Amino acid sequence: GSTIGIIGGGQLGRMLSVAAAQLGYRCHIFDPHERPPAADVSAAFTRAAFDDRAALDRFAADVDVATYEFENLAVAPLEGLGDKLRPGTKSLAVAQDRATEKDFLERCGARVAPWRAVATLADVDAAVAELGVPIVLKTRRYGYDGKGQAWIHSPDEARTAWQAIGEEPAVAEAGVAFDAEYSVIIARWADGRHAIWDSSENVHREGVLRTSTVPCGAFVAGQIDEARSAAQRIAEALGHIGVLTVEFFAGADGPVVNEIAPRVHNSGHWTIEGAVTSQFEQHIRAICGLPPGSTDLVSGGAAMDNLIGDDLDRWPELVAEPGAHVHIYGKGEARPGRKMGHVTRLSRRA
Ligand code: ATP
Ligand code: MG
Ligand code: MG
Repeated sequence: GSTIGIIGGGQLGRMLSVAAAQLGYRCHIFDPHERPPAADVSAAFTRAAFDDRAALDRFAADVDVATYEFENLAVAPLEGLGDKLRPGTKSLAVAQDRATEKDFLERCGARVAPWRAVATLADVDAAVAELGVPIVLKTRRYGYDGKGQAWIHSPDEARTAWQAIGEEPAVAEAGVAFDAEYSVIIARWADGRHAIWDSSENVHREGVLRTSTVPCGAFVAGQIDEARSAAQRIAEALGHIGVLTVEFFAGADGPVVNEIAPRVHNSGHWTIEGAVTSQFEQHIRAICGLPPGSTDLVSGGAAMDNLIGDDLDRWPELVAEPGAHVHIYGKGEARPGRKMGHVTRLSRRA
């Protein structure tokens, strides 16, 4: 068997490793932490900083193909991986900077919320004047789970919000009055073949995903075709290889892209039990050039609940519940807001 390198050792890397092992691959995890969740289930682990070129070069020599489970990586140190890196650095560079990302999405013909790049408080005030309120400020880089974001509900809140995000380069984005949120998860192969799962409807609380449910409701279903076309154009324009996630708001006038993730995604965890081929297996298939697996549902639908912080205490009742598929990430301390695991329940075939 050959070796797959995974940069980032969190829960996504862990679930990728499990899927890769099932297909006969060996995984090598690259992560700066002492004992990342993915290292527990993989054959090899390099502990080094993400921008440690010498360590990355040794890692590159050990693996046949490499991927990443995390987009906040410096791009330049990865250049040594060359064609082994799938998806490539273009997907990474676009997805890790919200201004570059939005500009790229618009060039792909996808709709995004009206936005401005801001670098000073004066820019924020100008954005508020031009776009109106509510506005959300999001740092261009390093945000996840709603971190690095602050809302502006009236013009006099601009300064507080600007300070709250650390006066970092940011985007100011109009608040979208959406009916629902959903995601399109697409896997693309080097030769342009692709596979798309049913879209889940996603519910967030305090910027963190709580639940993903398939099938989606009628309102979302009415705009899925348009959303899928946009996701396909984005994957194509990136030359993306592997799984790509596009998060959408279901707006009154159709799909509005929130953001993209160049990787498997929390809103696709239901595919582990709920689809013939999981997003993790499909990503491995796509980066290794294996044939696409079916994305069909195996039942009438699925509901995934995240286990966040103290939710982990519910583990005894969850493992006792018939049909509840429990996943624990092995992350150690259950801090508030931290994703510790998830549980998926399938519904019967309709
Ligand atoms: P993650 O990468 O973990 O999905 P993130 O930190 O990149 O999260 P976003 O996806 O930008 O954050 O925002 C998190 C949530 O905040 C969204 O899913 C949505 O519920 C809400 N939100 C973000 N931007 C807007 C907006 N412009 N209008 C309305 N709601 C928004
Ligand atoms: Mg994000
Ligand atoms: Mg998001």
